[in-house]
Amino acid sequence: MPNNVIPLHPHQQGQHHPHNGAKQPATLATVCETVERAVHLLLDGQLVAIPTETVYGLAADALNEQAIADVFELKGRPTHHPLIVHVGEGRGWQSWFQSVPPAFQALATAFWPGALTLVAPKASWVPDSITGGKPTVALRMPSHPLALAVLNQLGGGVVAPSANAFGQLSPTSANHVIAGLTPQCTQTGIPLSVLDGGACEKGVESTLVLWREDLQCVQLLRPGSITQAQLDAVLEAPVLWEPLYVAEAQADQAPASGTLASHYAPKKPCFRGSAEAITQFLGTQSATEPIAVLSFQPEPPMDGFKGLWHPMPSEATSYANQLYAVLHQVDADSSVEQILVETVPAEAEAIETWLAVQDRVIRASKVL
Ligand code: AMP
Ligand code: MG
Repeated sequence: MPNNVIPLHPHQQGQHHPHNGAKQPATLATVCETVERAVHLLLDGQLVAIPTETVYGLAADALNEQAIADVFELKGRPTHHPLIVHVGEGRGWQSWFQSVPPAFQALATAFWPGALTLVAPKASWVPDSITGGKPTVALRMPSHPLALAVLNQLGGGVVAPSANAFGQLSPTSANHVIAGLTPQCTQTGIPLSVLDGGACEKGVESTLVLWREDLQCVQLLRPGSITQAQLDAVLEAPVLWEPLYVAEAQADQAPASGTLASHYAPKKPCFRGSAEAITQFLGTQSATEPIAVLSFQPEPPMDGFKGLWHPMPSEATSYANQLYAVLHQVDADSSVEQILVETVPAEAEAIETWLAVQDRVIRASKVL
């Protein structure tokens, strides 16, 4: 359990929260002890951060308009960026879609519960507030036992975007959620409970795929721990993948907020480059420069390096599992002013989870 546990706010005993009301408690982010309590709070229209196998999600009852509005407000997320609906087992997930493309039935059978999000035309009853006005809805059945327990008990669906302020690093622990969202709770007056399920197993957001009715194929919008090769094998056809890095000025045209050029980013300046580029850059800096380096090399390339050298795993799933945790750590470290990340070697990029890792590194950083 996180150390910074704060007493329950009166709102969390069933009263309405005072949006920007006169009297604010010291903090509105608290730990929720049980699945039953989380379900109770969600049914009461409140926000609960839940652990999933990818990252922590900011859950709200998908059919409660006020709760959905609170999610957008707390995250500072533009309302045209749609939310992923999370569903439990055996509750007719098919009803969220206008009709289920056969390819999606196959993918759901193969990968759910799991880290795959399916996007297809929505059923007419699905609120526009969830989909950001889009005619499509994104659906996922998470595999984390606590998330599934909450969803199975709840019955309906929850929206659950990553439990962080918009554009920032996704949280992979309950402490990340509390540290990241407490200021947002204080600012907005919206209370938040956090169900602590430990560190997330995958550590990067779900693989996100779109059904392209026009092309009769599946398009990969965001790579994740379920790989292109795994999708291709189930579909018996290649998925469409064109990396998209949408500039902030064109943000309203992004097919998914995960396609924004800058997203999932630390607060500190963050740059990426090859091992050679990093060595060359470090050679131009004074040895006392407060730099943190995430590298595949076990040690700094030069003597006297006084920054923080963070060797990263050479295996893709372990790297993905650690990436956000390490970025959170160096972002919060007051001795660090700049972050450098070694890029994934080009030959590894197309394989396994490296595609997802490289994608997140690109959105978190600028070229050195
Ligand atoms: P997060 O908010 O971190 O869970 O990320 C959710 C991702 O799913 C974002 O990149 C959204 O833009 C994307 N998404 C959700 N719904 C849709 C949709 N209907 N069409 C396309 N992308 C979607
Ligand atoms: Mg997010």
